Amino acid sequence: MALLPLLFIASHLATAAEPAKEAAPAENTALVEQCVTSLKALPGKSDEAELHSACEQVKVLDGCKSVQGTPIFYFEKKGTAKNPKHIFAKSLIHGDETTAGVVAREWMVRLNKIDPRNTWRVIPIANPDGTKAKTRYNANGVDLNRNFPTGNWEKDAIAYWKKNAHSDKRRYPGPSAASEVETKCLMSQFDDFKPDFIISVHTPLGVLDLDGPKIKPPNFKPLPWQSLGNFPGSLGRYMWKDRNVPVLTIELKQDQDLEKFDQLQDISGTIAIQADQLKPKKPAPPSSKTAATNSGESAANN
Ligand SMILES: [Zn+2]
Repeated sequence: MALLPLLFIASHLATAAEPAKEAAPAENTALVEQCVTSLKALPGKSDEAELHSACEQVKVLDGCKSVQGTPIFYFEKKGTAKNPKHIFAKSLIHGDETTAGVVAREWMVRLNKIDPRNTWRVIPIANPDGTKAKTRYNANGVDLNRNFPTGNWEKDAIAYWKKNAHSDKRRYPGPSAASEVETKCLMSQFDDFKPDFIISVHTPLGVLDLDGPKIKPPNFKPLPWQSLGNFPGSLGRYMWKDRNVPVLTIELKQDQDLEKFDQLQDISGTIAIQADQLKPKKPAPPSSKTAATNSGESAANN
């Protein structure tokens, strides 16, 4: 008998509370929609329901938007190991490497269904404007993988671009170190997530390349183990040479067999654990703010 008045109060409260709550779910719906639409547009087929379920988990860090205002979303899944390694994976920092985005999409969908050893954070589309326009660079014409504030940026980035890249506009490092909002977004991601290991997925060279300690090369026939080196302003240089965080570059072939991504993810997780054990023990890397100051100082001193 006392139930009816209670139900009335509950429903009345729910109605009263509704307007205040509306903003957040509406924004979230737009983000889920953006995630599903942008990832579905990549090659290969993804199970629609599974993709939707993974996209419902994505978030955006404060300030993580492209030049044209598109949110740069991420997916995270906690690891079950006692001391899980923090693995950060990102693709489509070069917007024309669409196959690379498929790897991150499939890893996201898979992580949403399994209990991984390691804690994973995945950014499938690090350069949304370039991905939309199918250009390597962002909307300002900057190659984001030459725009990280590496210790040698001021001294070498522009000179290297002119001499070694023959002023190729696809490889322009930008007007200054970390000039681009997408670069700053990745830097704030590193500050927030504190990765032990980074995976950067590209095309089309068909190799696995580790900027990190010497490890026993994995046996993954589709992509042989090969060192590609790193460049002023590149992620490998910024995180491994300057900050002691190993970076695995996965260079897919253009026509990569899209079936072995699960195996590639497991191999990458094992490399992350090995690399973490073998890397020199140094103090924790500085935050991006300190690093930016340091690189400025070193340029002034040089
Ligand atoms: Zn690339």
